[in-house]
Order: sequence, then C-alpha cells, then structure tokens
Amino acid sequence: MDLIKDINGEIRRGIVVNELMETSIPNIYAAGDCCESFDITINQNRVLALLPNAYMQGECAGINMAGGKKIFDKAIPMNAIGFFGLHIITAGSYDGDVYYERNGGYKKLFTKDGLLKGYILVGNVEKAGIYTSLIREKIPLKNIDFELICKKPGLMAFSKADRMKKLGGA
Ligand SMILES: Cc1cc2nc3c(=O)[nH]c(=O)nc-3n(C[C@H](O)[C@H](O)[C@H](O)COP(=O)(O)OP(=O)(O)OC[C@H]3O[C@@H](n4cnc5c(N)ncnc54)[C@H](O)[C@@H]3O)c2cc1C
Repeated sequence: MDLIKDINGEIRRGIVVNELMETSIPNIYAAGDCCESFDITINQNRVLALLPNAYMQGECAGINMAGGKKIFDKAIPMNAIGFFGLHIITAGSYDGDVYYERNGGYKKLFTKDGLLKGYILVGNVEKAGIYTSLIREKIPLKNIDFELICKKPGLMAFSKADRMKKLGGA
C-alpha cells in the first residue's frame, strides 16, 4: 500500500481500484489483499482478503496491463471450513428474505432484489458451488427453478439454454 501512498494514489482500508483493477493513478494496477474490492452482495467497497478474489483480480489486472480489456465484478466474501467431519461453507451477505432448513444440517439462503445474495451451509455442503455461482453471476432467480434449487442445488434448476452455456455448449 505504501508504494501507492508514496506517489499520492488513493488509499482507504486498501488500495482503491476501479473495475479494471486500475488505481487512481492511470496505468498503475493493483490486485489482491492490498486492495479494496467492490462486494457485489452489498454494493460497497471493502477489503475481501481471500484467495479466489486475489486470483481473479490478478487475472483482470494482468489482462488490462497487457492491453486487453477485462472487468472484475465478482468479488464476494466466502469461507469454508471442516473440522471433525463437520463442513461449513458461507458466502455473500445475510440480508433480505430467508429460506431456512434444518434437515440433519443447517441451511440458510438469503435473497434480495430477485437475486441470491448469500448462504450458510452446515453439514451438507454438496454442490455449494451452484449457490456461489448464482451469487457471483447475479443470475435472476425468476430464470431458474429456485424452489428446487433451495432444496437440492443442481443444474436441472437452470433453463436448457443456461445449462448448455454452463456445460460449454455440450
Ligand atoms: C493464515 C491464513 C489463512 C488463510 N486462509 C484462507 C482460506 O482458507 N481461503 C482463502 O480464500 N484465503 C485464505 N487466506 C487469504 C489468502 O492467503 C490471501 O487472500 C492471498 O494469499 C492473497 O494473495 P496476494 O497475492 O494478494 O497476497 P500474498 O499472498 O500475501 O502475496 C503478497 C506477496 O508480496 C510479498 N511482498 C510484500 N511486500 C513486498 C515488497 N515490499 N516487495 C516485494 N514483495 C513484497 C510478500 O512476501 C508476498 O509473497 C488466508 C490467509 C492467511 C494469512
């Protein structure tokens, strides 16, 4: 952060970057834990010091520095942990309407403005990636069978066109 501060770049809790991962100083890019991210689940900037965010930010910064054009608009908080056989995954923000299930484990899904904004899974974490991708890709819930996906995350809840896109056109 000092590197940017020393040349009068904008710093808050992290280096301030735009969607291209460019700092307030043109042609100077930053990515990873040193930066703030725009958390799409709360529409606010904050430090999201997590490996997937760092990786995607780095890719975005690299492409733009090399003359390409890419935006990074997929930053979300998330965490996964497993101890003594109990698995827990959380992602996004916990605001909005709640789907709640206690069926051997614990599941909460949070929806707002027609989008999935966050989830908490304790116990059965199978296919949690489907929930994560609904959040990251801001997939409108009206386009999928959300009732089905609440109970059992799976590709069958997506339209045929979306399934083909997700499976690389297969
Ligand atoms: C204990 C721990 C557990 C974590 N667990 C998870 C997890 O479960 N899941 C998850 O997603 N994330 C986890 N993280 C966060 C994850 O490690 C970071 O988000 C990720 O490593 C950030 O990558 P980065 O490249 O931005 O920074 P870093 O990986 O920190 O890399 C920065 C590099 O810059 C070097 N450096 C610093 N200053 C200078 C300088 N002046 N000159 C040259 N080099 C310099 C450092 O030595 C370092 O190698 C964890 C972090 C910690 C500390």
